[in-house]
Amino acid sequence: MVLLAFACVAQETVLGNQQAPGSCPYCGGTVVATVVESRRGFCCLPVCVKIMRRYSCAACSRRLVLYP
Ligand SMILES: [Zn+2]
Repeated sequence: MVLLAFACVAQETVLGNQQAPGSCPYCGGTVVATVVESRRGFCCLPVCVKIMRRYSCAACSRRLVLYP
């Protein structure tokens, strides 16, 4: 029996960057929101598409998790 977990692949596409309000708590730099489209599919059928934002600092490159 073939493990089906290998057929279920998450693909992520970076759609772009946006400037986010606020500043980095570590260095006070600009916070950048990276918009990522996360696509989970079974074979080539897309099952779940999510748009997520990831926040990070443009100056010190730390990933910021203080934003929901
Ligand atoms: Zn920073």
